Amino acid sequence: MDREEKAAEVPAPAAGGQEKKPGRKRKKEESQDLPLSELPVTELKGVGPQQQARLAKLGIVTVQDLLFHLPVSYEDRTRLDRLSPDIFFGEERVFLNLAGKFITGRMTYGRKMLYRGEVKCDGGILNIVIFNARPFQVRIIESAGALLLYGEVKPGSGGGYEMIQPEIQSFPSRESITLSGSLTPNYPLTEGINQRFMRKIAGEALDLLKERGIEELIPEDAMKNPVSLADALRTLHAPPPGVTDEMVRSGSMPAQRRLIAEELAAHHISILEERARNKALRAPAFRGKSELEEKFLASLPFTPTRAQERVSGEIAADLRKAHPMMRLVQGDVGSGKTLVAARAAIRAISAGCQVALMAPTELLAEQHAKTFSGWLSPLGLRVTFLSGSLSAKERRSALEDLILGRTNVAVGTHALFQNDVMFKKLGLIIIDEQHRFGVAQRLALLGKGEADALHPHQLVMTATPIPRTLAMTAAGSLDVSVIDELPPGRTPVTTAVFGEGRREEIALRVRERCLEGAQAYWVCTLIEEAEELECEAAETTAEYLQGLMPDVKVGLVHGRMKPQEKDDAMAAFKDGAIDLLVATTVIEVGVDVPNATIMVIDNAERLGLSQLHQLRGRVGRGSGKSFCLLIHGKALSAIGKERLRIMRETNDGFVIAEKDLELRGPGEVLGTRQAGSGEYRIADLARDADLVPEAVRMAEIIYEKHRELAGPLRKRWISAESGIARA
Ligand code: ADP
Ligand code: MG
Repeated sequence: MDREEKAAEVPAPAAGGQEKKPGRKRKKEESQDLPLSELPVTELKGVGPQQQARLAKLGIVTVQDLLFHLPVSYEDRTRLDRLSPDIFFGEERVFLNLAGKFITGRMTYGRKMLYRGEVKCDGGILNIVIFNARPFQVRIIESAGALLLYGEVKPGSGGGYEMIQPEIQSFPSRESITLSGSLTPNYPLTEGINQRFMRKIAGEALDLLKERGIEELIPEDAMKNPVSLADALRTLHAPPPGVTDEMVRSGSMPAQRRLIAEELAAHHISILEERARNKALRAPAFRGKSELEEKFLASLPFTPTRAQERVSGEIAADLRKAHPMMRLVQGDVGSGKTLVAARAAIRAISAGCQVALMAPTELLAEQHAKTFSGWLSPLGLRVTFLSGSLSAKERRSALEDLILGRTNVAVGTHALFQNDVMFKKLGLIIIDEQHRFGVAQRLALLGKGEADALHPHQLVMTATPIPRTLAMTAAGSLDVSVIDELPPGRTPVTTAVFGEGRREEIALRVRERCLEGAQAYWVCTLIEEAEELECEAAETTAEYLQGLMPDVKVGLVHGRMKPQEKDDAMAAFKDGAIDLLVATTVIEVGVDVPNATIMVIDNAERLGLSQLHQLRGRVGRGSGKSFCLLIHGKALSAIGKERLRIMRETNDGFVIAEKDLELRGPGEVLGTRQAGSGEYRIADLARDADLVPEAVRMAEIIYEKHRELAGPLRKRWISAESGIARA
């Protein structure tokens, strides 16, 4: 916006924000030398205590904050438009910048004061409507030599053109109209702060930027982009004509990329700091080889894959150190993460420590408890399952076992971290997140605590590959190991997609296979998070399928069944007493029945990609040829269609995770949508992925060679409350 313009602005109705501050001049002199990063917004004209508080809600405390509060879109008022019937031809809304002269007008005094006027503009007469008009505004409009009006133009009710609630400036004459040389910014607002006010103070902030400059925190040896910080800010607040909303959305302007790179670098610095803090914590060191582990490996019916060996080695190396491991093990569904976890657990136990194993669902926790106790009991170790369905007495005795050190491994859901659960000597926490790893944040919390106490090592297991772009978020402060190999003998799953009209045909095909000895899952999907409905759907489907195939043994498992009933159904399926298991998405995680070779997912369009992939991972576990049949309903969105196409085309969990990120955005992939959305000011990890390597490099150079800049840079971009890396 051109700050020099002499025009008298007609204050918008309900403008607000024009506070008088008599003492300002004197204060301004005192603050003459303050850098913008320390200059409070109250130094700007019209910002009093009330506006200060409102701006603070937008994270704006200093003038520099205001400069970093970037517009989300722009209006082109750099030239004058004409009225013409053509303007209504397109489908887009029409916003025009019109010069004109007042012809006639009339104020209606009803319940609300309404002003209607006619203005003669280039190309036609414009009808203007102003709600809550004030007499002094009307006077300015009616007496001005020329008016400049900006707003949306619509066809008027009686023909012609209409502009409701236009932004109006008055000038002595048509010749004296000065147009802005740059686009007019639209800022994110908050209650009590309107666009006009925001533009005004942002304009002032830009003037101050010109006078005092801004501290450049990216040293030359770390910066690739030649745009200076000051230029980037200036360009984004007041871009030249020709910059389109599309350019802004795509984040392709050099000025944007300059700032995005800086923001990403700031976030990576916070990760580097987090890692350094972690290195300063102490943990029990698990040294040496353990006889128990040898015994354990000898007892297995298989040998670990090379990938499992490598990852176990990486974990062992971490555990030997006297500061807490923070490692993420990523391995596709069925890659054998549990074995790797068990080996880590045995290391900790051999050194006299206890292990906590946390799973996302009760069903999975239970399965882990069984697997672990199957593996560890023969070695003389004790595994305790802290199930949610324990009686008070059972729970008390389980907790006592933990605190007295009578049990070596505690397995449970997140309830494991309730206050009353105490360990004698907890040395390792294992979190099995499958495809949601939002808990990675909580993990960081666990790492905190008294400075000199011993902290447990932490291991997170996930089936969600971490796309390169997410290396900067919650997962970024963890070291990552990848199990990139499946145990031998697995056959890839063939996936096919069907419309719901073919449900019966599919059911009959499944019946044939079951009669030949195959086993199958039939999964009923969630209807908008309503577990109860999902369970009902599963019950109805089970009845329907049993009716369709009386000669096949149909079983049912869903979240509302008693644990014992669920167990019995699962056990019967595992033993082959059930051929077709109708289930809700509760079976999505961890269930392991190698003889099952068919997975039918009903209403598959309701699920996200990683959930679909997870479910599909329930088959293809044995040597038999496996199939995944996806049935979709009639209302299939474009994204839903795309998901099913991806499922049909690939079995590669990494490709699926990348696509998932593209389709959903990083917040959702990380399970931190709320936290994630507000996390970055301008960067968008999915959109700006290509800048990540450069930003990481910048951060590393700054952290290594210019440590003094690291703190200020982080503070500039990350407010104290945000930044999940430092949760
Ligand atoms: P996930 O990584 O999905 O958690 P699991 O740990 O449940 O995978 O392992 C899947 C199946 O593969 C289990 O039945 C497990 O016993 C088996 N398994 C694990 N490692 C091996 C191996 N090296 N060789 C053969 N089977 C293995
Ligand atoms: Mg698993």
